[in-house]
Amino acid sequence: MQASAPTDSGTWSHWHIHGEPIRLGISSCLLGEEVRYDGGHARDRFAADVLSEWMEFVSVCPEVEMGMDIPRPTIRLADEGDGVQLIAPSTGEDFTEQMQTYSARRVSELQELDLDGYILKRRSPSCGMERIKIYRKGAALSTNNPGLFAAELMQRWPSLPIEEEGRLNDPGLRVNFIERVFCRNRWRVLAKRGLTRRLLVDFHTAHKLLIRAHNEAAYQKLGQLVGSAGSMDDEQLYAAYEAEFQRALSFKASRKLHVNVLMHAMGYLKDKLGQVEKKEILSSIEDFRLGLLPLIVPLTLLNYNIKLYEIEYLMGQLYFAPHPKELMLRNHA
Ligand code: SF4
Repeated sequence: MQASAPTDSGTWSHWHIHGEPIRLGISSCLLGEEVRYDGGHARDRFAADVLSEWMEFVSVCPEVEMGMDIPRPTIRLADEGDGVQLIAPSTGEDFTEQMQTYSARRVSELQELDLDGYILKRRSPSCGMERIKIYRKGAALSTNNPGLFAAELMQRWPSLPIEEEGRLNDPGLRVNFIERVFCRNRWRVLAKRGLTRRLLVDFHTAHKLLIRAHNEAAYQKLGQLVGSAGSMDDEQLYAAYEAEFQRALSFKASRKLHVNVLMHAMGYLKDKLGQVEKKEILSSIEDFRLGLLPLIVPLTLLNYNIKLYEIEYLMGQLYFAPHPKELMLRNHA
């Protein structure tokens, strides 16, 4: 990594260190492992075929790892008045304590592995992150709960980007998740290898437009943090920056904020472009705003001109290439 070179620092590959892989935890069945209650799997093509080219996985099947067989009776969350339990309705067996003990230990182990994100299997009373039913006397008592392992993971590790494979079918949620994962990896590796104030400034500068696309207020706050750094000691400053940076990215980048960022970038070009080029780019931004074109179109037009006219500040902005283009995330967002 050469974080101090501004002219080519605006690509994910410039910041990425090959010996520091992007690492995701994942529900084992999504990788095609035959660990489900019926001996089957739930292979997810995006994770198993696409993300696997760029990321390393830590495969976790809570039910099998805590000692359940394959195949096994189905289990579900139930509350008969004594709190939420994980039970097998066909046998009445109660797995609550076993799962809670296992989850507490396993999440601690995972935290030692420096994960950059986690993909959970939806609709599982163990792995599902939301919309899991709790039953009482055979009827759904409530419908929007996490599975037991997922609850432990999300509660103990709130800064970790976590998504379900089903939600990742939504192009906006998908791009947001992957963006957070790459950003987390960049920060994590920088912190691991030794942060300095100079590197913090470089990191923040390269992420400015990206952060603005997620949350303008957080962008202002991060700018103030970096600007008023003299009043804090190094560790305080890095911790405060990391917390606010992760929080900023947890906001889904909206079409409106993207348009603001694109128009801001356009401002750097306005004196360089002829009427035709200007009109073409503005029209692509407007079409993106209306949902007629994907983000990749105005980005490509802008990028071409940024390089043509060597707009140094914009060439250093990760907003234009925060993750591999082969993932094609902005072709649908
Ligand atoms: S959803 Fe979770 S517990 Fe169920 S098979 Fe998949 S990894 Fe195992």
